[in-house]
Amino acid sequence: MYVVTPPQRSDLGSNGDLRVYQTWKGSNIFCLQGRFIFGPDVRSLPLTISLIVVPVIIFCIFVASKLMEDFSNSWGVSIVSVAVVFTIYDMILLMLTSGRDPGIIPRNSHPPEPDVLDGNNTNPGSTSQTPRLPRVKEVEVNGNIFKVKYCDTCMLYRPPRCSHCSICNNCVERFDHHCPWVGQCIAQRNYRFFFMFVFSTTLLGVYVLAFCCVYIRKIKESEDVTIWKAMLKTPASMALILYTFITMWFVGGLTCFHIYLISTNQTTYENFRYSYDRRSNPHNKGLVDNFKEIFYSAISPSKNDFRAMVPREAPMPSRSAVGGFMSPNMGRGNDDEIEMGRKGVWAMAEHGGDDKNGGSNNNERFHVNDDELGDIRTQVNDDEQIGRPNIRPRQSSWEMSPEVMALAARRP
Ligand SMILES: [Zn+2]
Ligand SMILES: [Zn+2]
Repeated sequence: MYVVTPPQRSDLGSNGDLRVYQTWKGSNIFCLQGRFIFGPDVRSLPLTISLIVVPVIIFCIFVASKLMEDFSNSWGVSIVSVAVVFTIYDMILLMLTSGRDPGIIPRNSHPPEPDVLDGNNTNPGSTSQTPRLPRVKEVEVNGNIFKVKYCDTCMLYRPPRCSHCSICNNCVERFDHHCPWVGQCIAQRNYRFFFMFVFSTTLLGVYVLAFCCVYIRKIKESEDVTIWKAMLKTPASMALILYTFITMWFVGGLTCFHIYLISTNQTTYENFRYSYDRRSNPHNKGLVDNFKEIFYSAISPSKNDFRAMVPREAPMPSRSAVGGFMSPNMGRGNDDEIEMGRKGVWAMAEHGGDDKNGGSNNNERFHVNDDELGDIRTQVNDDEQIGRPNIRPRQSSWEMSPEVMALAARRP
């Protein structure tokens, strides 16, 4: 039986006035009283910042300042200014990527109520006595059928393109990937800034690399030495050229990869997951519209107000106490197994193609007559006597076994 853990007493202050971020169930780290949200691996962020800022500082001190002397005043100053302003711009993009809600879907406090009448959760072929929410539901979006999966942790059906980040422990909309360098999920609300950050970092690297080459050339010309001797006269430039050349392969390659993903309207997650499938991508709207979706669409408002006050309330009663039902994955393997397509024995009604056994049972079961119904009832009573959960309608109709529900509905 699925039991929702009531809020811990220690979570509640003496007068109960805590904010959402203080009772947050995900693994996120909050800063400035919930104004900034990061992933649990935000400690890598200072490293990422220093990998960008330190080379730029070295560039300004050992290369750009020397170039200022060689170029006329306005040119020389602009070489330093552009480097500084562009680095600040890059850091702002990094913060917009890293410190904001990437598109977290708030958790439910209890599993959704199963809708008996929609037929999705009826599972006449099952001998399970406790109704389960269906593991997978099908929804139609713009004429395309998507299978939405249930998340046990967040207790919700994930919308299409949503995935549960195992690092942040949240369901995130249009999940792309979790980036350890920025310490945050890359998803619906920060993908644009992530791409701009990676692209800008590439341009910054090209800028530093180009002016280091210009500086070496200047030395060569002014001192009339070979290019190798000019290089030896400025070890900082050599180090920067080597460093930017290596990092360009990484951030430049990442930029190209994401340009490809944007142009085909894929996420990194979808690209890796569906790369072996040859089915067409239902999200692809054409090159122009795909780019518009990423860069010219309004960013959806956050579904979370991390600074909102959590009203003081009594601990939630256990669902089992008021008559519970089972979450579809109780006692199942972890979610990654499902994402990888390993099939379980979920209560998947109506998906004959996915659950052949269940499908055939469904067909057979719908042809039982009243005599058989009596037999099944006897069997059900026997099951009850040997300690199975009570399946008789007690407090609400969905506690009844779907098997019995389906059969009872066919009685004249
Ligand atoms: Zn989730
Ligand atoms: Zn994450």
